[in-house]
Amino acid sequence: MKEHVSAVVLAAGQGKRMNSNVQKQFMLLQNKPVLYYSLKCFQDCEEVEQIILVTGRGEIEYCKTEVVERYGFDKVKQIVAGGKERYDSVEQGLNCISNGIVLIHDGARPLVTEDMIKRSIKVAGEVGACTVGVPVKDTIKVVDEAGFGIRTPDRKTLWQIQTPQTFQVSIIKDAYLKMRTFGCENITDDTMLVERFMNVQSKVIEGDYRNMKITTPEDMALAEALLWSKHI
Ligand code: C5P
Repeated sequence: MKEHVSAVVLAAGQGKRMNSNVQKQFMLLQNKPVLYYSLKCFQDCEEVEQIILVTGRGEIEYCKTEVVERYGFDKVKQIVAGGKERYDSVEQGLNCISNGIVLIHDGARPLVTEDMIKRSIKVAGEVGACTVGVPVKDTIKVVDEAGFGIRTPDRKTLWQIQTPQTFQVSIIKDAYLKMRTFGCENITDDTMLVERFMNVQSKVIEGDYRNMKITTPEDMALAEALLWSKHI
């Protein structure tokens, strides 16, 4: 039987590193908000049945009228308020879903592709948990508090992790329940949660170096250039 597929798209961050009054997910890229691009990709992907959009309480109305209705994203079934930390926002999104497969995606990554989404759904269906990522290009060092490099992990084993991160809903929901019992120290993504609390390894599949997360002002220029190159 085919599983239900939902996407949780996160747009509740404050984006403090952007130094802007406008949150990064609402800044304009080619005259459309950053958030438009990932919603469009999930909307167009046949396998995805519904999208839950998580945003700030004060931005729900803007998202409804200026993004969801304006661009006809009719797969967005609910727009809910997020929380203080990223995991609080994910949890609010997961509360809207009961079964099947869920893709969790940063709304600040406009260059996600349908191909990534489709491969993620397939692999998460097979192994329970999966994330896209790319092999690191640079040497990575562990640096101590005094600024000295103390270890250089073998680069061949290192991947930079992106989103979407995709899970069987029962696994990720159980992981969140356990997080609330045992604590959420240093949690930066959802694959960490299923590793830590469910003992489930996530399969890392090839993402794309272009699937960048917009974080600082210079990322906007880069994303703009990458968006143009996507259409060539
Ligand atoms: O802050 P960071 O770059 O890690 O955010 C990644 C994604 O998570 C962004 O799309 C951001 O809007 C979202 N987020 C959220 N709720 C938070 C923090 C981040 O939805 N409290």
